[in-house]
Amino acid sequence: MELISLTLHELQRKLQSKEVHPREVIEALETRITQVEPKVQALLHRNLEEALRLADQADVSLPLGGLPIAIKDAIHVQGAPCTCASKILSTYRAPYDATVIARLKAAGAIPFSRTNMDEFAMGSSNENSAFHATNNPWDLTRTPGGSSGGSAAAVASREAYAALGSDTGGSIRQPAALCGCVGLKPTYGRVSRYGLIAFASSLDQIGPLARSTRDCAMILNAIAGKDAKDSTSLDVPAEDFTRELELGMKGLRIGIPKEYFIEGIDPQVLSAVEKGIQQCRELGAELVEVSLPHTKYAVGVYYILATAEASANLACFDGVRYGIRASDPKNLLDHYQRTREEGFGCEVKRRIILGTYVLSSGYYDAYYIRAQKVRTLIRRDFNKAFQHVDALVCPTSPDVAFRLGERLDDPLRMYLADIFTIATNLAGICGISVPCGFATVEGSRLPVGLQFLGNALEETKLLRIANAYELAAGWRSQVALI
Ligand code: GLN
Repeated sequence: MELISLTLHELQRKLQSKEVHPREVIEALETRITQVEPKVQALLHRNLEEALRLADQADVSLPLGGLPIAIKDAIHVQGAPCTCASKILSTYRAPYDATVIARLKAAGAIPFSRTNMDEFAMGSSNENSAFHATNNPWDLTRTPGGSSGGSAAAVASREAYAALGSDTGGSIRQPAALCGCVGLKPTYGRVSRYGLIAFASSLDQIGPLARSTRDCAMILNAIAGKDAKDSTSLDVPAEDFTRELELGMKGLRIGIPKEYFIEGIDPQVLSAVEKGIQQCRELGAELVEVSLPHTKYAVGVYYILATAEASANLACFDGVRYGIRASDPKNLLDHYQRTREEGFGCEVKRRIILGTYVLSSGYYDAYYIRAQKVRTLIRRDFNKAFQHVDALVCPTSPDVAFRLGERLDDPLRMYLADIFTIATNLAGICGISVPCGFATVEGSRLPVGLQFLGNALEETKLLRIANAYELAAGWRSQVALI
């Protein structure tokens, strides 16, 4: 197989046996990027010299020694631009490494290339990037999903072996599904967010996108763990997330949440997901129906809480400390107003306005407090379900990749892209999307994702289930046409 088509763990073996040198890997990626990037536009920037320098020093005996990983542009890599795909941060450079980057480097990995995203991670199509849209490598007229769409498109087009993304309401899993990758959202608190530009702090979580479940487990091994710089990171003993990958599904109980099989799911998505579920049964899992009765409130609750948190988090972008600054302001207020007016895109402004509204006096109790209460009910639904089952299975996204431009003037329809991923973040549990087949739409073969959800801190079991499915289903051998 071509060097750029390998999984991370296959590449690791080649590096360790010295069949391939880390420098060759970076060079192969660079050649590929030069060929396909004009069509895919998954990346915002990259530093080839720095990557080659790290490759020359790489210690291939380390857990991720010499393995290049692309990084969503919301995560600080010291010295590199970190724009969050926003004009307001277009001149900003990261003064330090995010904890996940420091940990990747300590494990021997090479952060290479920064991936495009929706501005401040707000979106489901990557079209909200202030710089350019990203095209889906399976059909260049369609979106790769979002907000980690650049990460997913880079992995699918073989411009990267694996990437880091962030998931606030589905932003790792939905693009992974739409691009035919594996995407893992770890439990809230499993991975430090120090150095991730915050969108909604009670929901954000960093995780990997890759070509296989094993690759995701390897990356999680490197980035997970308590960090004194992020008080929400959990102080739990270190685990080897690869240790149960080969144990199969036999004897495990997997719940099918009936609220996730609603009208409006693309029939081809539904049929691929149902086949996936049938395969789990054949692998020896016991499938049972469960109910998560408050699911229907998840999208509404999310858009109150996420926007409220975003309006507070984004207040720091005022032109004083970071990024661009309006020229010749008349006074301080004019300086703030014009910097934000010129620096933020439409969707970001929409969210700040919504978030400020739900937090304002008179509305705070009616919206924000009430949403927090419903969030508790959603969390309890999952707690109850996980008393009886080891994991849940459902679609990742109701649709396959949609056309660029198709939902741009219909924000509500765009918000529904995450209808099956949002509750996971509200409950703080973990979830993974794995490819489960294809739909054919207007002549294009488009990937479909199957989602498994696991209880908090049960990534090891979740990865075991996903890996058993992935190996049996064999979709991994399929690569995008580009
Ligand atoms: N698409 C959702 C949103 O627009 C989720 C984004 C995310 O997970 N970062 O908010």
